[in-house]
Amino acid sequence: MALIAIAYLIAAICFIMALRGLSGPKTARKGVLFGVVGMGLAIVATMFNPRVEDHILPLVGIAIGGLIGTGIAKKVAMTALPQLMAAFHSLVGLAAVCVAAAAFYNPEAYGIGTGGHIHAGSLIEMALGVAIGAFTFTGSIIAFGKLQGLISGAPLTFKGQHMLNAIIGGVIVTLIVMLCFTQSIVFFWMIVILALVLGILMIVPIGGADMPVIVSMLNSYSGWAAVGIGFTLTNSLLIVTGALVGASGAILSYIMCKNMNRSFISVLLGGFGANGEAGATGGADNSDKNVKIGSAEDAAFIMKNAESVIIVPGYGMAVAQAQHAVKEMADHLKKEGVKVRYAIHPVAGRMPGHMNVLLAEANVPYDDVAELEDINREFAQCDVAFVVGANDITNPAALTNPASPIFGMPILDVSKAKTVLFIKRSLGSGYAGIDNELFYQPNTMMLLDNAKKMVENIIKALD
Ligand code: NDP
Repeated sequence: MALIAIAYLIAAICFIMALRGLSGPKTARKGVLFGVVGMGLAIVATMFNPRVEDHILPLVGIAIGGLIGTGIAKKVAMTALPQLMAAFHSLVGLAAVCVAAAAFYNPEAYGIGTGGHIHAGSLIEMALGVAIGAFTFTGSIIAFGKLQGLISGAPLTFKGQHMLNAIIGGVIVTLIVMLCFTQSIVFFWMIVILALVLGILMIVPIGGADMPVIVSMLNSYSGWAAVGIGFTLTNSLLIVTGALVGASGAILSYIMCKNMNRSFISVLLGGFGANGEAGATGGADNSDKNVKIGSAEDAAFIMKNAESVIIVPGYGMAVAQAQHAVKEMADHLKKEGVKVRYAIHPVAGRMPGHMNVLLAEANVPYDDVAELEDINREFAQCDVAFVVGANDITNPAALTNPASPIFGMPILDVSKAKTVLFIKRSLGSGYAGIDNELFYQPNTMMLLDNAKKMVENIIKALD
């Protein structure tokens, strides 16, 4: 047992190192490696635990899960990662419910008492774990549906919604107390059912633009569910790992709220962006305004004669997989003596760090990449802001229009550049579903095409 405890301790340290590594693109690969080693060690050590009697069944489960996971991870498009994360979180929640139910029906096997006489402490941990797990399960499924486009991304709100959620939350807490006193199986399943319902009710009113925060919050909940179950199973590694996931998810959600200038509580209560899908919400009526449409040759000419260019990548670059072409174009410009940098918005794309990952994949030097707060002031001095498939993250409505669903979110100040080049396929809206007045600004030139095709044509024109 002492050896197992030491192995668990080393695994926990590996997980901490993994999180540390994953905090920056330069160290991310090392971080993943630490995670793999830690998890491998945890599995091997658990297999040697004398309480594990059947070794075949867990190995079969690991093999099936591992195969499915590898298959999905290999196939999934980078743009679909947020919904994949939501789908996987739902499984963590479901696992927490299953383990808690198994422990409730067979407490002897877990050393937490006997049927009808489960230790009070274990019951509380189990009840909390099962409630958070069930909530995470349905909440993550709704988040998956919204991100995958299976359910409308528009917030679904109705009168008295918050009151209803508060009442259900209160009833769950009461049921947890009653379960501890009575050990009644009816109360156990009532907690599960109400938490499943609450998971749906809490996520449906959340609008698309708040989804990144919610995915990260659900990540955090899945960690806390694991903590509850870790206590039930008296498994110290599960407690530590769950706490790491729970705390890091909560911190990430907080940082994202700060970056979007959103109140954490209002995101959790939902309803933000209620009109977000309407198409023209939050923007002015632009139907009578002029749009300057340019070609790849125009863009090449402007950039070749510029002193500095700031590239602003967004979701469209990910969809078009244009990152390699963008890097090649930047290299061309650098050879011409143009200073090129990349500006990253914290919620660009569809997951935190999405753009950093794509740029790293294309071997863009880390020193060329700057975060919003470090580069925003430089737009006023730069000749060209080159926006590749980004939209919401540049929309001035976030600063000027209190009626806009993205009002309050900091934006990349591209409009301050001498010329703004916008690559996208149409004048259509982005994720938040709102018009962008920048398209009609006199210093803006729209380059309407698929991002990869347009950048490749610019490279040809530069040649
Ligand atoms: P947006 O969704 O605002 O805009 C992307 C633009 O890319 C669209 O307007 C689209 O215009 C264009 N586009 C799509 N495909 C292509 C293509 N193949 N070639 C060229 N252009 C293309 O993305 P942003 O990155 O600007 O902003 C991110 C948004 O996503 C924010 O609202 C954020 O809150 C939200 N979000 C962010 C998450 C995160 O964690 N980062 C997670 C979930 C949501 P067109 O159709 O005309 O081509």
